[in-house]
Amino acid sequence: TPSERIRNFCIIAHIDHGKSTLADRMLQLTGVVDERAMRAQYLDRMDIERERGITVKSQAVRMPWQVDGVNYALNMIDTPGHVDFTYEVSRSLAACEGAILLVDAAQGIEAQTLANLYLAMENDLTIIPVLNKIDLPGADPEKYAAEIGSLVGVAPEDVLRVSGKTGVGVPELLDHVVRTLPAPVGNADGPCRAMIFDSVYDTYRGVVTYVRVFDGELSPRERIEMMSTGAVHDLLEIGVISPEPVPTKGLGPGEVGYLITGVKDVRQSKVGDTVTSARRGATEALAGYSDPKPMVFSGLFPIDGSDYPALRDALDKLKLNDAALNYEPETSTALGFGFRVGFLGLLHLEIIRERLEREFDLDLIATAPSVIYHVTMEDGTEVGVYNPSDFPEGKVREIREPVTRATILAPAEYIGAIMELCQSKRGQLQGMDYLSEDRVELRYILPLAEIVFDFFDQLKSRTKGYASLDYEVEGEQAADLVKVDMLLQGEPVDAFSAVVHRDRAYGYGVEMAGKLKNLIPRQQFEVPIQAAIGARIIARENIRAMRKDVLSKCYGGDISRKRKLLEKQKEGKKRMKNIGSVEVPQEAFIAALSSD
Ligand code: GDP
Ligand code: MG
Repeated sequence: TPSERIRNFCIIAHIDHGKSTLADRMLQLTGVVDERAMRAQYLDRMDIERERGITVKSQAVRMPWQVDGVNYALNMIDTPGHVDFTYEVSRSLAACEGAILLVDAAQGIEAQTLANLYLAMENDLTIIPVLNKIDLPGADPEKYAAEIGSLVGVAPEDVLRVSGKTGVGVPELLDHVVRTLPAPVGNADGPCRAMIFDSVYDTYRGVVTYVRVFDGELSPRERIEMMSTGAVHDLLEIGVISPEPVPTKGLGPGEVGYLITGVKDVRQSKVGDTVTSARRGATEALAGYSDPKPMVFSGLFPIDGSDYPALRDALDKLKLNDAALNYEPETSTALGFGFRVGFLGLLHLEIIRERLEREFDLDLIATAPSVIYHVTMEDGTEVGVYNPSDFPEGKVREIREPVTRATILAPAEYIGAIMELCQSKRGQLQGMDYLSEDRVELRYILPLAEIVFDFFDQLKSRTKGYASLDYEVEGEQAADLVKVDMLLQGEPVDAFSAVVHRDRAYGYGVEMAGKLKNLIPRQQFEVPIQAAIGARIIARENIRAMRKDVLSKCYGGDISRKRKLLEKQKEGKKRMKNIGSVEVPQEAFIAALSSD
């Protein structure tokens, strides 16, 4: 297709505002999927995605559409909607000339959508504002048209109104895409440059890489080069998705499609990288490439120690499809053998954990999520701390923690509650704007560690679920942080070490000591539980000694009952962990680590 007949667009929307439903309706209207083959949410393929209603992996579909008797090819690129995937969102946006800003006409715009809208505007995309679900009795298109109109800079009456469910307004929206979005421009005769905006591991075909061609032509059976690494691959197949993969004779400027090289690991096909021809290739890559950086770390341990190899295999498999996932073995005195795993954010963590438990049938304990601290020692050495239990001993000059730029949108009546929460989380207010008379946008600088802790849950509960949050990690700040250890009979329990602000250290120590006191059974001797900063004890509890042993319950009579009890006790011991001479049932660790 010549580039003037191509339109590349994505849909920016908050979860549940109807992106999948609208996309399905477009596939149907353009004849790409017929009525019979149509199942709800054709584009959402992963189970977890379907259940949680989120889109983790983007895809691209080509749809034919005729306007004034001319045939066009519309490429719809599906963007992930969540904050953890900002970089992937930015690459999907970079593959498009325009974006449909889809907003639920009964809800209005949410913080994450606003963040992605700003990202699209920074990328110079043409924005088509659209209100969805106008069939709903609770829809208030007048109010929200004014709101998103003012954000995008159009009159309220120029905001389109559709229903993805009934199909009302959708053909007009497709016409509008053709008429208002610019056609892609590129240098047809130059060396090939195509940007990878997604790559997905497929069991049968290996990695399927989604690309947008900017210059030149990608043709089948040539060798291609990945410009970030210089790695050269044979091109086995190239094509477009419509809605199943269809091999083509090549992809020219402006076109969007897939390629297959036979590699088995998505990290060989990196999002944001530039693909060129191995012979006479481009010398300069397209702008914007960066490696995914894990921001949040957690230890994952199998509850049954014999599942360790199975956990390793499962992580190896997931990594094939997730370039941002990384992990290394970790040993904990409390929890045994496991892995320290790095994630893009909390949702990423939750998704991986759920997939491990569901798809691989593993029972896991996860330690509290933590962030990366950079510590400068008195002698000038620098240490990166990925795990609170690895916090260096000795004199510390400075500790730096990652900070985020956070945006919160909420009804104006909650301003007070939100400010109070942000202040208690060491937030600094940067600004506040009214989107409409009863909705505000609050901007804060907040430490990532506080957000990771329980910020989101608290925000939701203090605003009855009405507030939405977006955040982006932006640099570091020095902070007065300390490591708090929990000691059982003087022995530190590594899984409970935490890096917290000095003002919160006492509270953390008291809370954990209290929890552990209730969870650890009495021993033959008294067991002190202490919270400590270095050598200084800041909180203390005692588990009193137990005198009776198990057999004393049996009145010395029934031998078989005695034996049974002894056996049971032996069984129970297997699931005990020894911290010094204290026996702790694994359940106690699990219970203490699960948030309440
Ligand atoms: P996504 O999370 O943005 O992909 O949203 P979905 O397409 O999964 O839709 C979320 C919910 O809204 C589903 O229950 C849909 O049936 C419903 N929905 C989507 N579009 C419409 C619409 O135009 N009208 C109505 N009444 N409901 C809709
Ligand atoms: Mg969806």
